[in-house]
This record gives sequence, C-alpha cells and structure tokens, in this order.
Amino acid sequence: MSNSSTPSSSASQRVAVVTGGARGIGLEVARWFLARDYRVALWDIDAETLGRTASELNDAAHVLAIHCDVSQPDQVDAATAKTEAIFGRIDALVNNAGVAVFKPIGQTSFEDWQTVLGTNLNGPFLCTQAVAPVMKRGGGGAVVNIASISGLRASTLRVAYGTSKAALIHLTKQQATELGTVGIRVNAVAPGPVETEMAKLVHSVAIRSDYHDVIPLNRYGTTEEIANVVGFLCSDAASYVNGQVVAADGGFDAAGVGLP
Ligand code: NAD
Repeated sequence: MSNSSTPSSSASQRVAVVTGGARGIGLEVARWFLARDYRVALWDIDAETLGRTASELNDAAHVLAIHCDVSQPDQVDAATAKTEAIFGRIDALVNNAGVAVFKPIGQTSFEDWQTVLGTNLNGPFLCTQAVAPVMKRGGGGAVVNIASISGLRASTLRVAYGTSKAALIHLTKQQATELGTVGIRVNAVAPGPVETEMAKLVHSVAIRSDYHDVIPLNRYGTTEEIANVVGFLCSDAASYVNGQVVAADGGFDAAGVGLP
C-alpha cells in the first residue's frame, strides 16, 4: 500500500514519519505537517483504516501509506527503507502508535503486558533506531515520543499502559542524550485524555468523571491541541529543546490531584 512520488522535484521538502498515523492523534499530527508543506509517511498496523485515510487525504504527492507493525524490527526496517527510497530523507519522526489495556494487575495477562510494552515501548525504540541514521545523513532531525499523563502519575488499571509510558519518558531522555550529539533532538509529549477511538475503548464512565474532576480545565483535550505541541517540538522554533517532556494535559500534572 503506497503511492509514488517524484523525489527529485521535491528533494528539499521536509519529510515526517508518523507512526499510528491512520487515525486519532497521529492523523491530526499528519495534518499539521501537511499544512506546512511536509511530505508525510504514515506507518500503521491497521491496513484498512490506513487505506481509507490515505484516500481521504487525497494527496499522493505528499502522503505515503505504509503498512507496518512498529513492534516488529523487520517491518520497521522495511518501512524506513521504503520511506527513504521514495521521499529521500526523514526530518521528523513522531512515535505515536500506541495501544491501551486498562485492567487490574490480577487480570492483566502476560500477553496484555507484552502487547502494550511491544507497541508503546519497543516501537519507539525500534523506529528511532532505524530512522536516526537517515536523519543523520540529512544533517539532523527531531523525534517526538507520544507518552501520556499515565506515564507521569500512577493510577489503578494502568499497570501495563502506565509502565510503558513511564519507560518511554526515560527512553526519550536516553535518546536525547545520545542522539543530540549528532543533531537529532528527542522530546516527549504527555497528553491528558483526548476523545479518540482509544479513549472510547478504555475510558469508562467512571474514568471520564474522574478526569473531569481532577483536570483544572475540566475537559478532555482535542487532537488539534496535541498536534500543535508535537508540531512545535518538531519545528525549528524548538531548536534548543531536547530531552523534555511536555504535558499537554489541562493542568492535571501541575494540580497534583491524583486519579483513583
Ligand atoms: P488510536 O487508537 O485512535 O490510534 C492509534 C493508532 O496506532 C491506530 O491507527 C492504530 O492502528 C495504530 N497502532 C496500534 N498499534 C500499532 C502498531 N503495533 N504498529 C503500528 N501502528 C499501530 O489512539 P490515539 O488516542 O490517537 O493514541 C495515539 C497515541 O496517543 C498513543 O500512543 C496513545 O497511548 C497516546 N495517548 C492517547 C490519549 C487519549 O486519551 N486518547 C492520552 C494520552 C496518550
């Protein structure tokens, strides 16, 4: 599933990779880049939604859709090679693909644990490792890892999800420290709750009510509000920002009122 492009005519145009870009926050991040004349590669495990999204974006010169499971090293390597072969460079990588399982510890199976850690932690490790040499060849780049407020604060039901996001925040700092020396900045965004398919899946009525009460702005964020922060961190406006975690969470972390 891909389109063709003419790299020679657009070699100076910047390129962003957005994992999990077929829908939700990732799709909004892709739109942010497209509005600023980037070419965008969407890597996603869901071939059907990816195909539909690529058709809806209807911009074959700027959009490349690649079916990829970010937890699988061979698929990540193939997606990286294909993106570089067609677009010629990679300037920004947004490690957005994620899955959520909200269960008590006693009901979280080892398979749940592996699925969540595999996508949310192994994915950003593998994608950044594969893409960094391409960025380096182009003179540098920016990576943004999509973490979560669940990686900043512990709460019930999130043993796998929260642990994966907390580890991703530390991975961000490790990557920033090492890759900063070759001109690659790495930052994380920790969104508060956002109304997406993921939220529909795991946010019960009780969770929604808790979020409403503990978030000073008393509401969910929008995909646009998250994409704006991600885009800023990828842009030259953030050229001296490296290794940071920006919570886009309506003040949840600052208020310090815990979830149950
Ligand atoms: P979503 O479920 O709407 O979209 C996630 C996308 O990732 C989907 O297109 C899915 O197919 C893709 N994906 C899942 N596993 C993948 C894999 N192994 N390889 C490639 N693609 C894969 O979710 P969303 O709410 O848009 O979440 C995006 C990111 O934001 C996730 O990392 C999530 O943890 C994080 N986040 C979401 C919220 C929220 O409330 N929605 C809050 C904080 C953080």
